[in-house]
Amino acid sequence: MAAARYEALGAYARERMCSQLAVSGSASEAIEEAKRFLDPNALTLGFARRFTAYKRLNLLLHNPERLIRLLSNAERPMQLILAGKAHPADRPGHDLIQQWIRFCQRPEMRSRVIFLTDYDMQLAERLVQGIDVWLNTPQRPWEACGTSGMKVLVNGGINFSELDGWWAEACNPKVGWALGDGREHGDDPSWDATEANALYDRLEHEIIPEFYDRDKQGMPSGWIGRVRESMAQLAPRFSASRAVRDYTEQHYLPAAQAFRHRAANRGAAGVALINWQRNVEQKWAALCFGEVKMETRGEQHVCEVQLRLNDLDPSSVQVEIYADGTNSGAPVKQSMTCAGPIAGMSGFFLYRAVVPSSRPITDYTARVMPHSEGISIPLENTKILWQR
Ligand SMILES: *Cc1c(COP(=O)(O)O)cnc(C)c1O
Repeated sequence: MAAARYEALGAYARERMCSQLAVSGSASEAIEEAKRFLDPNALTLGFARRFTAYKRLNLLLHNPERLIRLLSNAERPMQLILAGKAHPADRPGHDLIQQWIRFCQRPEMRSRVIFLTDYDMQLAERLVQGIDVWLNTPQRPWEACGTSGMKVLVNGGINFSELDGWWAEACNPKVGWALGDGREHGDDPSWDATEANALYDRLEHEIIPEFYDRDKQGMPSGWIGRVRESMAQLAPRFSASRAVRDYTEQHYLPAAQAFRHRAANRGAAGVALINWQRNVEQKWAALCFGEVKMETRGEQHVCEVQLRLNDLDPSSVQVEIYADGTNSGAPVKQSMTCAGPIAGMSGFFLYRAVVPSSRPITDYTARVMPHSEGISIPLENTKILWQR
């Protein structure tokens, strides 16, 4: 946007570009040329992050000819400012950077696609302050958060991102743009192609037209409306305060409470817990499932499993019937109730559960994990035994 927020970034990006050219020994003409890079009136897309495979930072390069057409449209140009680093041992990450560097070096792209080196927090700060559209194209479900998108939103940039991490929670059509269908597709190259095409389509048919749609004063009122919605709806919900509050309420306070409980009475509960852990450790290897019966009765599957507990008390285990989630939904985990010891089978107990028959019976598997009041599983004990 031809605004102060963009020009500050443009000037900074040119300056860094000139010094990075100088450091790499470029000719003085090349450095002079870089002083004219970027267009203050063009739509500026960008991202700055760790280059690693799951982030799929080459998605935009999927069809270079189509990207070049979008970048070099004379009436409605687009430009890119990128930055990032890969871990020294991350070969696929290096390869992603090289793909971008090669693209930036095409003579017709040099002034429109800028890759800034020596990525650090200061550079990230400049970028999140000046970019119009922040792009994030990770492969689901690997993006834990995508924090930089939140930094962009409070600075008046708009997010265009895969529905993963924070954006899966934040996105709606008024505040930004979504990529993908919110489901997992693994490493499927044909899906990457589908998403890359959707990326170009969105840019070409929605994002670029909205940015260049100006009112009588020359203002992109639709665009500004979107920035307002994004800031008003999302800034209060996605912030460092939210992160600190969530960690405090969901993790730190329960952990502090557990500590006080375990330390009270000269550590009585702590000692009991250690003894319990040792007992589980000793007996776990001999745990095994016996016969497993699953049958369908009308709307329900009735599951019955025999489980040898090897002297462990039934209260020391949690037995569940489990099924993977469908369509990226949450998995089904239903606890099985202990119907008591099995006569004539020493150490064996019978467990039962009933689950809806809407899913095939073969989707379900029984499993057993340690269980004790006040302990965090699997954080403090990772044992698990699956029915085979
Ligand atoms: C915020 C930030 C990140 C994390 O960004 P993602 O969107 O999660 O990839 C990485 N590096 C720097 C310097 C940052 O400031």
